[in-house]
Amino acid sequence: MAQIRLENIEKRFGDVVAVRDFNLQVEDKEFVVFLGPSGCGKTTTLRLIAGLEHPNQGDILIDGNRVNDLSPADRDIAFVFQFYALYPHLSVYDNIAFPLKAVKVTKSAIDEQVANVAKILQITDILNRKPSVLSGGEMQRVALGRAMVRQPKVYLLDEPMANLDAKLRIDTRAEIKRLQHEIGATTIYVTHDQIEAMSLADRIAVIHQGLLQQIGTPHEVYNKPKSLFVAGFMGMPTMNLLDAEVTTHEGTTALQLSHTDVRLFLSSEKQTILNNSNSDKSFVFGIRPEHINVSNEPSGEGISANVHLIEPLGSVNILDMILGTNQDTQEPILLRVRTHPSYQVAVGDTIWLDFNVDQMHLFDRDTEQAIW
Ligand code: ATP
Repeated sequence: MAQIRLENIEKRFGDVVAVRDFNLQVEDKEFVVFLGPSGCGKTTTLRLIAGLEHPNQGDILIDGNRVNDLSPADRDIAFVFQFYALYPHLSVYDNIAFPLKAVKVTKSAIDEQVANVAKILQITDILNRKPSVLSGGEMQRVALGRAMVRQPKVYLLDEPMANLDAKLRIDTRAEIKRLQHEIGATTIYVTHDQIEAMSLADRIAVIHQGLLQQIGTPHEVYNKPKSLFVAGFMGMPTMNLLDAEVTTHEGTTALQLSHTDVRLFLSSEKQTILNNSNSDKSFVFGIRPEHINVSNEPSGEGISANVHLIEPLGSVNILDMILGTNQDTQEPILLRVRTHPSYQVAVGDTIWLDFNVDQMHLFDRDTEQAIW
């Protein structure tokens, strides 16, 4: 199997810098997901690894060997594109068997391997059909199957489930994860779907505007975002991000949420980190909707707020709470809170909010980097 290393990679298309100063090491057998919004450079980075694009700068190493000058065929990589390319004149069986025939595997071994992946991908009953009569989802699974039978050193999968319906996507996701663990092949998977990324990845690489923002386990990326971008991108609903200022009164430092009466007193540990951060102007305070407790009664440090909107999502309710009004724009300052669906509340009610102090985030507004 294989370790992949990208060193200071840059890729430009004319004036567009698609990938910039990209450094990443994917370990042998690891499952890394490239996650980011459309146009952030995920596919380009994958194509660079495959050898379908060449970097303007930097090196690509597979198992310590520089492969910049190797053709795609010599890199022992299987690539599944979002836009699958099947051979139209071949049956599904022959499309999947194609890479095995090319390396002269026995007929019975081919039969066995094709049957195996067809079962996993639930396409056993269409093995005799031609691609022209398949649905988008079926074609996608045939393309996946063709990559799976090859057992290469590295799998590069570019939104391979983009054309599957929601249920099949969840089933296939579980199969891909199980299979990757079983085969133990180094895999890089591109998606803009954070749920897919969280469920599949050993580590997620969050990319924005060609830059690697953060690489970490799903838990790290979700719970310890290193930048404002990562904080705002991960999570459904997303993290509450509110402008804040630091105030000091009689030796006590607090965080004042802008345009609200909310003042949060900081532990000495958080104060020390803040003092050492060299950030002293504007801040963005962050807290996830699930890290705020609600109650109908005033509590010690609780913040009172009015319910603006209720979104019942079945397993949870999302409440939009009004914390204040921006005097410049007259827009309400809203905070999203997640509650159990059995929690009874009506629009206009006043309730009390308690922030989980261990789950509060602070970002420097200028550098957009996390302070804590
Ligand atoms: P998506 O999720 O929409 O596929 P992506 O994150 O994979 O997006 P890329 O396809 O890597 O993004 O594109 C990164 C940037 O490079 C975009 O601005 C895109 O327009 C540009 N780009 C990609 N390929 C080319 C090309 N062949 N010529 C010119 N510009 C390109």
